[in-house]
Amino acid sequence: MEILLATSNPHKVKELLKILPGKTKSGKVLIYKTLADFPNLPPIIEDGKTLEENAQIKAVFGVVHTGLITLADDTGLMVDFLKGAPGVNSARYAYPDRCDNKANNEKLLKELSGVPTAKRTAHFKAIAALALPTGQLFSEEGKIEGRILTDYKGSGGFGYDALFFVPKYNKTLAEMTEIEKNKISHRGAAFRKISKYLIEL
Ligand code: IMP
Repeated sequence: MEILLATSNPHKVKELLKILPGKTKSGKVLIYKTLADFPNLPPIIEDGKTLEENAQIKAVFGVVHTGLITLADDTGLMVDFLKGAPGVNSARYAYPDRCDNKANNEKLLKELSGVPTAKRTAHFKAIAALALPTGQLFSEEGKIEGRILTDYKGSGGFGYDALFFVPKYNKTLAEMTEIEKNKISHRGAAFRKISKYLIEL
């Protein structure tokens, strides 16, 4: 049974393939495709006001345009000192029309310049959405708490990982192995929860 992962971010795909089940409960093999397998699709307009709306927009887009059961996610970094920003705008924090991870991280460091450690608390929130050709739609949430460093640490992961320090593990997400990150991450938690619907298919 084919499942579309409605993303073309290779880092996300790599993480998700390590989290998602390979088979349903009844033994059907799950084969994961990505948007890279459908190069002629129109662009997805992510114009939702919340992470949940955007995750559902992407999942419904996938099922409508390919007919495949579709999984999608939307993630935001919520920084307490910035009243929850960049939040739903995490991808386009530095530039309103494009995602530039380096510029996003630099902007975050600038906005938090001079802010003491205790006030640099933040969390990532991920929403995983699953859309079925029957019209059914499910979503689940995952979260991880941490704080924003004053400089980059680590070279793994992607996005804001090298600035996101997890006190419980004394490491940034970029210093963790993929297995460590998946075990505790926002996306790992959201997709493990949504997997309960996949194994029933
Ligand atoms: P989206 O879910 O792809 O829309 O991600 C929004 C923004 O958050 C992008 O700038 C991503 O690079 C960033 N992001 C998403 N997931 C993660 C993560 O696991 N670690 C760090 N940054 C992330």
